[in-house]
Amino acid sequence: MDAFKYENSKLLCEEVSVDQIADAVGSPVYIYSAKTFRDHFASFQKAFADLDPIICYSIKSCGNLAIIKLLSELGCGMDTVSGGEIYRAQQADADMSKVVYAGVGKTDAEIKLGITSGIGWFNIESEMECENISRIAKSLGKVAHGALRVNPDIYDPKTHDKTTTGKKETKFGVDIERAKQFFRTYGKDEHCVLDAIHLHIGSPIYSPEPYVMAIKKALDLIAELKAEGIEVKTLDIGGGYAADYESGKSPSYQTYADAIVPLLKDTGLQVILEPGRTISGNAGILVSEVQYIKQGGNKKFAILNTGMHHMIRPAMYEAFHFVWPTQVDAKFEPAERKEVMDMDGLVKTEVVGPICETSDTIAKDRMLPPLERGDRVAMFTAGAYGMVMASNYNAMPRPAEVLVDGDTATVIRQRETYADVVALEESPMPVDLA
Ligand SMILES: *Cc1c(COP(=O)(O)O)cnc(C)c1O
Repeated sequence: MDAFKYENSKLLCEEVSVDQIADAVGSPVYIYSAKTFRDHFASFQKAFADLDPIICYSIKSCGNLAIIKLLSELGCGMDTVSGGEIYRAQQADADMSKVVYAGVGKTDAEIKLGITSGIGWFNIESEMECENISRIAKSLGKVAHGALRVNPDIYDPKTHDKTTTGKKETKFGVDIERAKQFFRTYGKDEHCVLDAIHLHIGSPIYSPEPYVMAIKKALDLIAELKAEGIEVKTLDIGGGYAADYESGKSPSYQTYADAIVPLLKDTGLQVILEPGRTISGNAGILVSEVQYIKQGGNKKFAILNTGMHHMIRPAMYEAFHFVWPTQVDAKFEPAERKEVMDMDGLVKTEVVGPICETSDTIAKDRMLPPLERGDRVAMFTAGAYGMVMASNYNAMPRPAEVLVDGDTATVIRQRETYADVVALEESPMPVDLA
């Protein structure tokens, strides 16, 4: 699952003590394990090896340059959703031919950057966007490659409404009926070559079935197009593979692959996969410090120096994250991470952040070892959609990021300062209205 474990009552990331890192760089701090990133990528690649797919890691899940570099060096492609993420891929020397770019609102400037940087595919979400990409490519004297994002009308009831993307009434992609007409109209465009299909049904998806249903629909569509003389060469089946928010919660890569690979193996299609959280989720933790303990009615509150401004998933998606102190009595070393822990001596605790909103809750009514002021607390499976969604709300500087590799630890993003937070406001300039 990951390289975070308790040894002699202390939490380690690989061979480094998490507390030693926090002593040196302060808290809150995101700590990532390079080994976990590498292991996840290697086993994901192995599970799907029979398809010889292009694996495009979703930068939006955890996009630090050092992480993009680490995965690029293993041959991993990148899934991007903005000009900023394309820029990140460039800065990290990613292989741009293995970059895919999705998003319903691509601006002209973003499209231009995608074309000039030589990305592999635009995942196209509408007719108007397709025409715009073609127009911009033509003006640059270039050819762009497009994959039509088809939304297969698949809905996994276990996926949070805010992260479901494959329903018919969604802003993403075009529905299957419209897809055929789309290929008829734009399939012969010379500046936006449309010979691929993209699916992304949302996340996290806790079983292979939704993928199977979506892929079957896409294969039917590809066959119908072929009968009309329109050839689809590439099928991108998106991301959404789960992370282990609780021990053993997510299916193994092999479980997904066993269901998906046979459907695609002998189709001759180039397959693209876009895993995000399943690679990055368990590769990171967010370490913070208990500032105060207080009683509110019958509840015991532990107030941290981090909260929804640094990790918004509990507030936004009611997401569960395992939380545990970084140093514990031997009897409290957790053998596994579960929503309800069953150990003698645990105390029901409401873990909250400092932000002036009640939604700033990290863990509700959670059974935890007794916490005191000054204790450090780790929030697990925080690698995905953690730092990338962090904000400066309440003028809070964002945390530092540290990458551990074996027995070394490197600061890969400095802690922001108050000066950083106000930097772009220091020199008001008159708007040139001429
Ligand atoms: C967010 C996203 C992904 C990755 O989702 P995960 O749940 O992190 O795997 C992949 N593809 C697209 C188009 C996305 O928007």
